[in-house]
Amino acid sequence: MSHDVFVIIEHLRGKVSDISYVMLAAARSIASATNGKVIAVLLGHDAESLARDLAADRVLYIEHAAFADFSSDAYQRTLENLIKEHAPRAVLFGDTTIGGDVAAWLSTRLNLPLVSACRTLRADDGTLKFVSQICGGKMMAEGDLPAPTALVMMVPGGYKPEQGRAAQPPEIARVDAPALADLRVATKGYIEPAVGDVDISKEPILVSIGRGIQNQDNIELAEDLAKALGGVVAGSRPVIDQGWLSSTRLVGKSGKAVKPKLYLALGISGAPEHVEAIGDSEMIIAINTDPNAPIFSLAKYGAQMDILDLMPVLTEKVQQARG
Ligand SMILES: Cc1cc2nc3c(=O)[nH]c(=O)nc-3n(C[C@H](O)[C@H](O)[C@H](O)COP(=O)(O)OP(=O)(O)OC[C@H]3O[C@@H](n4cnc5c(N)ncnc54)[C@H](O)[C@@H]3O)c2cc1C
Repeated sequence: MSHDVFVIIEHLRGKVSDISYVMLAAARSIASATNGKVIAVLLGHDAESLARDLAADRVLYIEHAAFADFSSDAYQRTLENLIKEHAPRAVLFGDTTIGGDVAAWLSTRLNLPLVSACRTLRADDGTLKFVSQICGGKMMAEGDLPAPTALVMMVPGGYKPEQGRAAQPPEIARVDAPALADLRVATKGYIEPAVGDVDISKEPILVSIGRGIQNQDNIELAEDLAKALGGVVAGSRPVIDQGWLSSTRLVGKSGKAVKPKLYLALGISGAPEHVEAIGDSEMIIAINTDPNAPIFSLAKYGAQMDILDLMPVLTEKVQQARG
C-alpha cells in the first residue's frame, strides 16, 4: 500500500471543475501528514494544458480520443487498472454525476469501500479521518478512512478551490491508456440544457428560494426582491418539483451550475446536490431559521431569521437605496 492520494480531475468543455481543486486541497491535508504524494489523474484528449494550475506533486496524464467527452466506460476501465497498479491510500472523486458514475462501479468491481458526501479529511495521530454530510446535509458523520485503499466522493464546502490551485505547473507524467476499442457507452453529442426565459447560469444576481418559501403565493415576495436587486429568481428542487418555478430555474445537480456575483439563498438548507452547483458564486448570503443549516458554512454572510419577514423589508430598503 502507498500513502499517495489520487485525485480524479473532473473537467467539462475545456474547464477544470471547482470540485477538482477542492479535492486537491483535501488530498494535501492528509498526504502531508502521512508523507504521501498528491497525484492528480487527468484523463483527456488534447487536454494536457488543463494540468497547469493543479496543486499536485505529480499529474498522471492519460491521453485518448475516448476521453474527448466524459465516458463512464472509458474512465472505469482506465482507473481500474491504475488503482490496481498503484494501490493508493485514497482515491478522491467529486460527489457529482460524473464522480458517482465511476466511483460506485469501481467500489463494486475492486471490492473497495466508498465514502460519499465527504466534506473534509484529516490525519489524527496517524489515523486518517473523514467527515461526511449525511441525511441531505443535515448531519455530519465522522469515521476512520478505511484501509488499505478507500474511494472517497467529495462535496464542496470543506476547502476553498483556491487552496487547490498552484502558481507553478506541476510535474506531468504521461501514462498509456488501456485498450478502449469496444466501449459500451459513447457520447454522441453534447446538448446544452434548455435556457428557457432566462439562463440562470449567466445571471449576476440570483435570489434563490428553497422549501422555506412555504407556498406558491410567497414566490411573489422573491420576485419583488429580485426585481429590486436587478436579479432573477432561481430555486432548489422542492420548489421546482412543486411546479412553483419552471425547471429552467433549478440550481443543482439536476439543474444548472451557477456563478453569480451574488447568490442569495433564502430558506435553502444546503444539501450536497444543491451546493455542488453554487461553489463558483462570488458571494453567497444565506438566510435560514435553522442556525445549523449547512448552507451557512458556504456563505460569506448569513442571518438566522424568517425569510417571509425579511423579503418585504429588504425589497423596500433596496428600492429606497436605489431611489
Ligand atoms: C439524485 C438527486 C438529485 C438532486 N438534485 C437536486 C438539484 O439539482 N437541486 C436541488 O436543490 N436539490 C436536488 N436534490 C434534492 C436535495 O437532496 C435536497 O432535498 C434539496 O436541495 C433540499 O431543498 P431545500 O434546501 O429547499 O429544502 P430543505 O432541505 O427542506 O430545507 C429548507 C430550509 O428552509 C429553512 N426554512 C424553513 N422555513 C423557513 C423560513 N420561513 N425562513 C427561513 N428559513 C426557513 C429550513 O430551516 C431548511 O434549512 C437532489 C436529490 C437527489 C437524490
